[in-house]
Amino acid sequence: DRRSEGIVINDDWPGYRLDLFNYPAHYSGDLDCVIIPHGVIMDRTERLARNIMDDLGDHDIVVLCVLKGGYQFCADLVERIKALSRNSNHTIPMRVHFIRLRSYLNDQSTEDLHILGAEDLSFLAGKNVLIVEGIVGTGKTMETLLKHVEAFRPKMIKVAGLLVKRVQHSLACVPDYVGFEIPNRFVVGYALDYNEYFRDLNHICVISESGKKKYKV
Ligand code: 5GP
Repeated sequence: DRRSEGIVINDDWPGYRLDLFNYPAHYSGDLDCVIIPHGVIMDRTERLARNIMDDLGDHDIVVLCVLKGGYQFCADLVERIKALSRNSNHTIPMRVHFIRLRSYLNDQSTEDLHILGAEDLSFLAGKNVLIVEGIVGTGKTMETLLKHVEAFRPKMIKVAGLLVKRVQHSLACVPDYVGFEIPNRFVVGYALDYNEYFRDLNHICVISESGKKKYKV
C-alpha cells in the first residue's frame, strides 16, 4: 500500500536554503537546511485528516497525543478533522488525551522509556484509538506504547506519525498514517526538539553540528 509511506524525501535531497524562509533569528547558525517547510506540513496534514475520516467514518475516536514532540501535529490534525466534520455528514465525536514519553538525551535514544499520564487508560476499553506521534525513528518507542495501550483492550488502534525515518533495520512499528518518510538525520522544529530547543520553529529543519554542540547537555 503506497499510501502508507507518505511523501518520500530521498537521502540526496539537499533541502531548502534557510535564507529563503523566515525563522527565529536566535537559531541562525544552528541549522543546516529546511527539510519540510511549514506550509507543506499543513497541506499534508489536511490530506491525512481526510484519510482518517474516510477510514474511521462514523465512530467515536479517542486521540492519544504523544507529548511533547507530537503536540503541534496533533493540534493541527485535530483541527483539520474538526473542519471536515463540520463540513460534511461524516462526523467524528473526538476526545483528546495526552501522554508523555521520554527516551532521548541529546540526539541519542536511551534504553529506558518513561510513559507519563498513561497509568490508567481504562477508559480506552472498546474505543477506537488514534495515537498521534511527531516522529518515529526505530519504532521501538511506538512498539512499547502500543503494547501498553493494547492492554486496555480498545476496539481498534491506529497510529498517525508525521515523520517516519528510513532506518537501516526495518521498523519495529510502522504508522497507519504517515506524513513524510525522511532520511535518517536528526530533525527539529514543528514541536520536535533537541534538548527542549527548537520547538519554537515552524519548519522542520536539519540541525547543524554547531547547533548540536551549542545545546548539548
Ligand atoms: P524510536 O523509538 O522510534 O527510535 O524513537 C522515537 C522517539 O525518538 C520519538 O518519539 C522522538 O521523540 C525521538 N526522535 C527520533 N528521531 C528524532 C529526530 O530526528 N528528531 C527529534 N527531535 N526527535 C527524534
